[in-house]
Amino acid sequence: MHPRDLSDHVEYEAGRGIEEVARELGRDPSEFVKLASNENMFGPSPLGAEAVRETATDVHHYPTADHADLVARIAERWDVTADQVWLANGGDGALDYLARATLEPDDRVLVPNPGFSYYGMTARFHHGGVETYPVERDDGFSLTADAVLDAYDGERVVFLTSPHNPSGGRFTLDAVEEIADATDKETLVVVDEAYGEFTDAPSAIDLVREREDVTVLRTFSKAYGLAGLRLGYALVPEEWAAAYRRVNTPFAANLVACRAGLAAMDDDEHVERTVEAAAWAREYMTEHIDARVFESHGNFVLVEVGDAAAVAEALKHRGVIVRDCTSFGLDDCIRITCGTKAETETVVEELNEVLAE
Ligand code: PMP
Repeated sequence: MHPRDLSDHVEYEAGRGIEEVARELGRDPSEFVKLASNENMFGPSPLGAEAVRETATDVHHYPTADHADLVARIAERWDVTADQVWLANGGDGALDYLARATLEPDDRVLVPNPGFSYYGMTARFHHGGVETYPVERDDGFSLTADAVLDAYDGERVVFLTSPHNPSGGRFTLDAVEEIADATDKETLVVVDEAYGEFTDAPSAIDLVREREDVTVLRTFSKAYGLAGLRLGYALVPEEWAAAYRRVNTPFAANLVACRAGLAAMDDDEHVERTVEAAAWAREYMTEHIDARVFESHGNFVLVEVGDAAAVAEALKHRGVIVRDCTSFGLDDCIRITCGTKAETETVVEELNEVLAE
């Protein structure tokens, strides 16, 4: 027996963890700082963490009511109906549901290059094809409607990442609207706002309320600090929102995640502190790193360093784990997550020393 032909499929490359790196180098995990996966520098929302502890004795139950409670809370937050909230096992899970709901075999999707690899992966799982539009370094990785529309050729789904991973750039709302207007009626525009809390730009959710062809993706992994629980959602147009019940994996988000997510949504203090610290860290890195740093609206910056693999390796030996962006097709760039003040100062100091060598 063999799996299906997976030769066109790519492997997802996650940022490496502290334990893994420490084991490889035979060192103690406490000697490392990880700034490779755009995680929350302050850890989880304290209210979310408390909910996790309190839920331990209830996990023999299916998350029926909790799922509904969280969906209702998210719907209230964004002023949409509960049906429009497609709760999932992380933003990644929501991308799977969107693919299940939209793609017929041989349909194609249009994704940014460089960009987040899971858009293409999930399309391929559903026997879809993947086309790309360029996000050009010459323009400082600026995200424009023209770049998307020049490449657009009737694809079924168009992915816009705003703020964009790995560059940190963003689309204006006007650009999103222009793209949705210019693409076919049966083309869905997915605006991935996984890093949406970190930018002061307005969310594309206004367009979800007004149109049938725009969907927004959000996650609890970043600003809320719940990446390990795997909780995210898509906000989809009312007209076809009921399709969720035909495509979702039963109990899409687990009980612990639902309770923690609900608690974290009341933890404004943690989100505000996180967003402020990320803004400070972005500015500090932009000002102090002795290399080109691209303008970012996320909780990370992309830095042009020359040989990315060598620089990431040197930093690792100095106790700082960053993301080598070779897998994004940028073999001269690293991506650094915004850390605490001390972590950010450390990475800047170590990186500048490596660059000077
Ligand atoms: N979109 C983008 C652009 C991301 O960077 C990520 C996280 N790596 C996700 C979506 C998915 O995040 P999660 O599955 O943790 O919600």
